[in-house]
Amino acid sequence: MDILKEKIYAGQRISHEEALSLFSWHIIELGMAADYRMRLISPGDKVGFIIDRIVNFTNVCEAACAFCAFHARAGQIEPYELTLDEILAKVEELVAIGGTQVMLQGGLHPRHTLDTYIDMVRAIKNRFPEICLHSFSPAELVYIARRSGVSIDEAVHSLKDAGLDSVPGASDLLVDRMRNRVSEKKLTKDEWCGVMDVLCRHGLKSSATMTYGMGETLAERIAHLEVVRAVQDRTGILRAFIPWSFSPAHTRMEELPPATGMDYLRIVAISRIFLDNVTYIQAGWLTEGMKLAQIALTMGANDMGGVLTEEVVVKAAGVSNRTNMAELIDVIKDAGRIPVQRDSDYREIRIFA
Ligand code: SF4
Repeated sequence: MDILKEKIYAGQRISHEEALSLFSWHIIELGMAADYRMRLISPGDKVGFIIDRIVNFTNVCEAACAFCAFHARAGQIEPYELTLDEILAKVEELVAIGGTQVMLQGGLHPRHTLDTYIDMVRAIKNRFPEICLHSFSPAELVYIARRSGVSIDEAVHSLKDAGLDSVPGASDLLVDRMRNRVSEKKLTKDEWCGVMDVLCRHGLKSSATMTYGMGETLAERIAHLEVVRAVQDRTGILRAFIPWSFSPAHTRMEELPPATGMDYLRIVAISRIFLDNVTYIQAGWLTEGMKLAQIALTMGANDMGGVLTEEVVVKAAGVSNRTNMAELIDVIKDAGRIPVQRDSDYREIRIFA
């Protein structure tokens, strides 16, 4: 056995260079190593999913990122803003089918302030106190804090006080060269890390994502993972890591070829091995399709994310994968694993043995 393989199977931390070399491993060997690492960090065969809904309350966004087909200026969806009543009606629909988590997500809206966000959180929590609000994004938090003349610390304190439970850590690619190219108006890598520190201080959990396939180098993909691993070492607030491929259609980067299935499986496996401090790696059925997501469950992934009864952002880029609870249960069982409906804290609600 070579030294790197020995390190991986001994559960040891690997370096940037070692992670980079994994891209040239045979996919089966890589997948088996990742599956082994997954079982070290999360023994057993359970694979969780959550019944949730994304409520994209506006697509008006000043950032206009080059990789995004959702914001109004991309020309795919007319500008819109949901009223509080419309938002509450969507949450009510989720509650009616036994859903437990709402992800409120908007853009960097030039007229929204901290109070706009607080009003949304209060309205939902007053009517549906049982719903977990895993909502907004680091970019939105930085933007509304700035617009409202308060610190991020104050913004997070007020939102938590209003009922915000946790914040998805939408992180795209945490590499400044790439951010300057594709999302120069969005928060910087250091600002993203700063938001994670603030969330940690306030006892709020988060997650990290990775959007790859935007013209970055393999070393930059590993650099992104390094930022995530360091944040998790420092804070411990990342409940999950969710890699997904960039969908070029209808964006300003339409000329780029879409990432392949092999790209995706490699990213899942390498993330699992490199991120030795993150328990859950989600299989991305929404962007990669259910069949590839199922294979990812054998190569390091151990969660299927949400049922997502509504999703608009990825759909705007022409990707229209949908699912439901029955399909997720079948797919997980067919992969030889045990489906578990979970809550936002990854506690088991129901096991489908
Ligand atoms: S990715 Fe987010 S911040 Fe960027 S344009 Fe789209 S909605 Fe706005």
